[in-house]
Amino acid sequence: MKPWEANIRRVTPYVPGEQPKKSNMIKLNTNENPYGPSPAVKKAARDFDTELLRLYPDPSSELLVDALAMRYGLGRDQIFVGVGSDDVLAMSFLTFFNSGRPILFPDISYSFYSVWAELYRIPYERPALDGEFRIRKEDYYKENGGVVFPNPNAPTSLALGLADVEDIIAHNQESVVIVDEAYIDFGGESALGLLSKYENLLVVQTFSKSRSMAGLRIGFAMGNPALIKALNDVKYSFNSYTMNQTSLLLGTAAVEDEAYFQETVGKIKATRERAKERLRALGFVYPEPSANFIFVTRPGTDARTLFEALKEKDIYVRYFDAPRINQYLRVTVGTDGQMERLFEFLENYL
Ligand SMILES: *Cc1c(COP(=O)(O)O)cnc(C)c1O
Repeated sequence: MKPWEANIRRVTPYVPGEQPKKSNMIKLNTNENPYGPSPAVKKAARDFDTELLRLYPDPSSELLVDALAMRYGLGRDQIFVGVGSDDVLAMSFLTFFNSGRPILFPDISYSFYSVWAELYRIPYERPALDGEFRIRKEDYYKENGGVVFPNPNAPTSLALGLADVEDIIAHNQESVVIVDEAYIDFGGESALGLLSKYENLLVVQTFSKSRSMAGLRIGFAMGNPALIKALNDVKYSFNSYTMNQTSLLLGTAAVEDEAYFQETVGKIKATRERAKERLRALGFVYPEPSANFIFVTRPGTDARTLFEALKEKDIYVRYFDAPRINQYLRVTVGTDGQMERLFEFLENYL
């Protein structure tokens, strides 16, 4: 080993879902939104003045922060924006999880949490979900350095009721509790209403799923002004210009088109309800989905074999080779047409 090699920060990175480039594929593997961004976003992109790229963007992201503050009925000092919620969450780990005590998140959850904890050398424990993949709130009542969980959870799509979310926050007023609401627009109850009651609560959301802008990279956190200031202080110590000029303009256009947002979220929820029935008829079982994906298993059918067979036909879903979930597939809810192609395949295959 070379001397300098001993000092490399060694990490095992997060592995994102595949992004194959095939013209006729059915892509149900990374929870993207099948409907494009709002027409208002497309117009803002067409009208974008490239001369603006000469200048640094506004480091305080005022335009976008104000649009979000208006949309969610909060003060601008209660909103932090970042390059996707991955950036917001990573920044939050760095900012809030410094006690030396283990942070807590579920054993089956967003797999990026353990990657950030390892990267920042934050100790962590992962309380096991129960046999039905539910979060046991009592597991989060012990001493800890912070709590983070997605609601609805990923990859299970199962939502935790607001009363249980509140119990977890109420039992942890000495640490920061992060509720990762990447999928909340598709189901479950947001913890936003609890912000006025708990100063240790941070709610994180994203434009990647319900606003169909995964490619632009916008995420945001909502919390009391002291948490938001702490996040901004860390951000300005790291990179002042995380939000580029295009993100600020197109992101604001998206937030302002509430009607399109409601319409497309509604369509995905309706397709999810129809897909549940079809999957049930085909012998699949799943935890009650609240997100834009369904976590399915079928007794007697090997999940990995089915995953490979689907891929062979250019139908992409997500398979996790991990304990407890290696007989499940996570299927993103696409358009009705895309789901029909999936069902046609399954009817033949089974
Ligand atoms: C998709 C996802 C994110 C990250 O989304 P961004 O594209 O980085 O905004 C965060 N948390 C969960 C649970 C997700 O599924």
